[in-house]
Amino acid sequence: MSTLTLPPARPYIGRFAPSPSGALHFGSLVAATGSYLDARTHGGRWLLRIEDVDTPRTVPGAAEHIITTLARFGFEWDGDIVWQSQRSEAYRTALEHLQTAGHAFACACTRREMADSGLARDGSRRYPGTCREGLPVGRSARAWRVRAQGVVGFEDGVQGWQQEDLAADSGDYVVLRADGLFAYQLAVVVDDADAGITHVVRGADLLDSTARQIHLQGLLGLPSPCYAHLPVATNAAGEKLSKQTLARAIDTHPPAHALLAALRFLGQAPPAALGLANTAELWQWALQHWQLSAVPRCRHAPAPDID
Ligand code: GLU
Repeated sequence: MSTLTLPPARPYIGRFAPSPSGALHFGSLVAATGSYLDARTHGGRWLLRIEDVDTPRTVPGAAEHIITTLARFGFEWDGDIVWQSQRSEAYRTALEHLQTAGHAFACACTRREMADSGLARDGSRRYPGTCREGLPVGRSARAWRVRAQGVVGFEDGVQGWQQEDLAADSGDYVVLRADGLFAYQLAVVVDDADAGITHVVRGADLLDSTARQIHLQGLLGLPSPCYAHLPVATNAAGEKLSKQTLARAIDTHPPAHALLAALRFLGQAPPAALGLANTAELWQWALQHWQLSAVPRCRHAPAPDID
């Protein structure tokens, strides 16, 4: 009689990965809180990664400000902080693998040349395939793209079953940008794998990136984490809170008020008396009561008034 040996379950490792393009706002606090509580209530580790791969969008001092703010709110991360700006070698190795295996191709197209092509699911221009079979004569490579093919499906821990036809919904996507920088999609996949991330809990603005990330994991022979996408906080005009929409910095609110608002936004129901508590008491309650299943199953929701 044969016995089946199951591989040991990988211990939970989660992360928060802010881009230092400005101060933390309520939306980033929601993502930090959800990922932190889900990791800790699973007895897991929670890592902090500063996503400064997109150097033109990096604001000097923003990363340090984010780190100080997280500490002030009582977040405790494990191990050293990872900085994407120091990880070029790992991204280059992954890119070379994609190039050698024929999964990536050089692309000469400019933004203007793609201005007429259809829209991808995330609102960007879907690549029309011009350089897929080779660079047009007389043109040289600007960027590198991965051939998008196949259907990717996954069960999202909050949003339920998701499915994407990569060619139709995303199109061939950039892994090395025309300005020579590695693209977010490549960096995040390499970083999550190197850190052994098992669970990604983040804002639903990245839901439409997930199929591409799972596709890349497959091409690079990397395991796919479990994903859960939290609702994104919007302002009165229905826009995602961000530096561009002039979202208020979270550290201008009393931390306990902001944390309480984030917990309620995530569908958790702390007793009213905790509204007067400090962050330590809120964390204590939240670590005992966190339920991912209580998070509203929607992609965005209005940010509350905090104080
Ligand atoms: N750096 C991204 C952001 O700040 C998050 C990326 C991720 O969680 O995968 O929106």
